[in-house]
Amino acid sequence: MINKWRSLSFKLWLTIITAIILSVLFAYSLSQYYYKNLYVEKLKTDLVNEASLLGEDYTGGEISEDFKQKVEWFNSKNDSEVFVVSNPRELSACLPFEINYDTLISEEERQMLLDGKAVEKEGYEKRFEKNIVAAIIPLIDGNRLEGIIYTYIPVDSITVLLKEFAAKWMAAVLLFLIVAIFFTTKWLKKLISPIKDIETAAHRVSEGNYDIQVQVRSHDEIGKLAKAFNDMANSIHLEEERKKEFLENVAHELRTPLSYVRGYTQAILDGVVKNDEEERKYLQLISREALRLQRLVGDLMDLSKMDSDPFMLFKTPIAFAQFIEDVLVIYEPIIKEKQLDLKINLDPDPIIIGDEGRMEQILHNIFDNAIQYTEPGGSINITLIQHKENCELVVTDTGNGIPEADLPYVMNRFYRVNKARSRFDGGSGLGLSIVKKLVELQNGNIEIESKEKIGTKVRVVLPIIGEELNS
Ligand code: ATP
Ligand code: MG
Repeated sequence: MINKWRSLSFKLWLTIITAIILSVLFAYSLSQYYYKNLYVEKLKTDLVNEASLLGEDYTGGEISEDFKQKVEWFNSKNDSEVFVVSNPRELSACLPFEINYDTLISEEERQMLLDGKAVEKEGYEKRFEKNIVAAIIPLIDGNRLEGIIYTYIPVDSITVLLKEFAAKWMAAVLLFLIVAIFFTTKWLKKLISPIKDIETAAHRVSEGNYDIQVQVRSHDEIGKLAKAFNDMANSIHLEEERKKEFLENVAHELRTPLSYVRGYTQAILDGVVKNDEEERKYLQLISREALRLQRLVGDLMDLSKMDSDPFMLFKTPIAFAQFIEDVLVIYEPIIKEKQLDLKINLDPDPIIIGDEGRMEQILHNIFDNAIQYTEPGGSINITLIQHKENCELVVTDTGNGIPEADLPYVMNRFYRVNKARSRFDGGSGLGLSIVKKLVELQNGNIEIESKEKIGTKVRVVLPIIGEELNS
């Protein structure tokens, strides 16, 4: 069991949650910033509007007591502070504040006001010892600045507002985080669970339990992984089965000759044998079975060697027609004995590159079959044709043929059409599987066509050396 904190799901979870928290914090600070700016901007316009509205009541001339009272009344009814300041020489008019007109506005601002423009301000104001947002509008008579209306709001109140906003924000964020964590955890669990399934399955497979299948629930990488895992488990299973079957076949093939050998030797040892002639017969049978065992073991060795690459082949150029004729010599007695009609038609040109010993093995297996599975009196045709890049050896017989249902399997290891009969024929079903392997190792190809009771055609195609070398 992996440490919880080291698990993939925890790492993903941590990454996602960190990302969520970071983006929430970022969004929060950004919104704080914009909110503040927007709010302050709006405040300024509001203040200007408010002051301008008041300013509309000013009819010119000296600022009247009436006007001042109006502004004061407005001040008392409003959130913002509003006051009117008249001509600098009338300092007493600045009440309720003892303000010097000149220090309240800068020269620059005074100029703006004289031009009839409103002034907006933001920042610390010495006069009030506060951070403020303010708007000033001029009261102009002709081209004389008779006074100003000054309105402001302390920024503290904005901060309070922002704090309120922050509190609401935090509550929303907290709720959001809880929901986000909940769904992230759930989603990750769903995402990770197939990986856990695969892990469990992998353990089962390593324990030899092959028919386990992981459910493929998605088409993403994890789904593909699950599918790949299933394929792997299947092929391991198949390979295991094949090995098991192979071993069973080997044991089965060994058992028969061994039991013969044991039976006959026991008979001789027990003195059951009546005379020398019978003893000789028994010994011959023992020798035959021993030979069969020897062949079988040889075949098995070959197969296992061929399975482990690189398989060594000692390739040399071979004049194929001559080579075939040489191999056929040893079949003369048996062909005569079985009264088979052998027709040979070999193109002398093809030169192949192959391992002589292995080529001999290929030919022997094919000829053995043709002779073995053809009734006496039948005929066998051997032709060799040269093509542009390869040559084609065709061995046709008029034997008992192979049933269609068996045809796809005859080149499998230990496959025999008639298992019962082959015991007398001496075949173990390995011949063609070895031929196929060897032909392929020499870059060739083998095909078998057959019709039951009519005959079989074995076609071997092998690459040849180029024309220029042939001539
Ligand atoms: P081995 O060759 O190992 O001694 P085998 O001849 O039984 O044994 P293969 O040569 O691999 O094995 O052939 C497999 C099976 O295919 C044979 O048992 C036989 O039934 C069938 N077969 C092969 N060649 C022919 C043929 N020319 N005519 C009819 N059947 C054939
Ligand atoms: Mg054979």
